[in-house]
Amino acid sequence: MNSNRKKVVIVGAGVIGAAIAYHLSQRDGIAVTLLERDIPGAGASGHSFAWANAFGKDPRDYHTLNRRSLDMWYRLAHQLDADIGIHYGGEMRWENDPQRATQLRQRIQQIQMWGYPCRLITRDEMLTLEPHLHPGTVVAASFSDADIHVETDRFIGVCLQRACERGAVVHQQTSVTGFVIRNGSVAAVKTTDAEFPCDVVVLASGVQTTELASLAQAHIPQQRSPGIVIKTTPCATVLHNVAVIHAAPTDENHQHLHLRQLADGSLRIGQGTQEGINRDDSQQHADALLTRAKAYLPAIGDAKAIPTPVGYRPMPLDGFPVIGFTEAVQNLYIALMHSGVTLAPLVGEMATVEIADSARVDWFAPYRPERFR
Ligand SMILES: Cc1cc2nc3c(=O)[nH]c(=O)nc-3n(C[C@H](O)[C@H](O)[C@H](O)COP(=O)(O)OP(=O)(O)OC[C@H]3O[C@@H](n4cnc5c(N)ncnc54)[C@H](O)[C@@H]3O)c2cc1C
Repeated sequence: MNSNRKKVVIVGAGVIGAAIAYHLSQRDGIAVTLLERDIPGAGASGHSFAWANAFGKDPRDYHTLNRRSLDMWYRLAHQLDADIGIHYGGEMRWENDPQRATQLRQRIQQIQMWGYPCRLITRDEMLTLEPHLHPGTVVAASFSDADIHVETDRFIGVCLQRACERGAVVHQQTSVTGFVIRNGSVAAVKTTDAEFPCDVVVLASGVQTTELASLAQAHIPQQRSPGIVIKTTPCATVLHNVAVIHAAPTDENHQHLHLRQLADGSLRIGQGTQEGINRDDSQQHADALLTRAKAYLPAIGDAKAIPTPVGYRPMPLDGFPVIGFTEAVQNLYIALMHSGVTLAPLVGEMATVEIADSARVDWFAPYRPERFR
């Protein structure tokens, strides 16, 4: 009965592989197998700050891609119909320095023109949104209504559960080691345990995508992008309304601080931008970030900082997503990107349209693998 179904093997169970597995498994004619060398979420997805947004995304096409996907989170949450760890409430940020305040005002003006639901707010409005915040000096502040954050382990777990309910098979602790290539196509995926015959292979393997693609003679270059998001022990609710805050640096020796709170009360805290390079996974660094966060939110109280290992962002060489079939091997589909938490709903759904219906989605035209030819 299953022999006529298109066999799709997905390599990697992060947010991208999980979203694609969910959407593909909703199609009757597709048999989905997902191979994960570790446990689901072990890669960048489990180390992410997981703020879904289009705030700092440039140029406009890329902003629009992220914006579309951000808006799709709401529908995906409805379809999955389970607790996927989505936190609504928007993002609030502020600046205490006149130069950076000017940049913030200009950014808000720019993305408002692009139709992004955001606005400048007063200090009073900030405190109405978050009464327990101690922001210090505020020269300019903004609020972006549509932004959310996501608990990636919950999201991945629900996608895989829904996929398995539709017959998908997930193999954990199964590392892909190569491909059997016949007549320019992948005929089977080799792993440490077995070979998996396939009609299509999706590489959603994060930073390992480059190495795996090279085994099939496809060139998908990346840059190294280490980052740190620390965890804390659970504490009282410190963010009552907004999902994410970006706090101004306390002085010129520090970067912006970003913070979100999970359902269990624990916090995730990072510094700098969403692409900032950081390799310091020491307890000392974790303690320092938490101390700075407590200055803005004293209600954090006795929470303890838990250092987390460096996370490596999947980061294509030019910083933009790589999505689509390769020229080198016609049935090898690449899904490699930074901002994968923001982009997962759109990539999951539209990659499915490309794989299941053989359509070519125009939105992905700037992001095809052959630009690295
Ligand atoms: C510090 C940090 C902060 C970030 N902040 C944000 C943010 O605020 N907002 C946002 O949108 N994005 C953010 N990102 C980026 C985002 O997390 C990633 O783009 C996203 O998680 C990528 O998901 P993925 O599924 O493509 O890759 P991954 O989550 O890395 O998953 C790839 C999976 O493939 C598996 N794999 C690899 N090789 C093999 C193999 N040979 N065989 C089988 N399995 C294999 C890995 O074990 C892994 O589980 C951040 C990332 C980091 C590290």
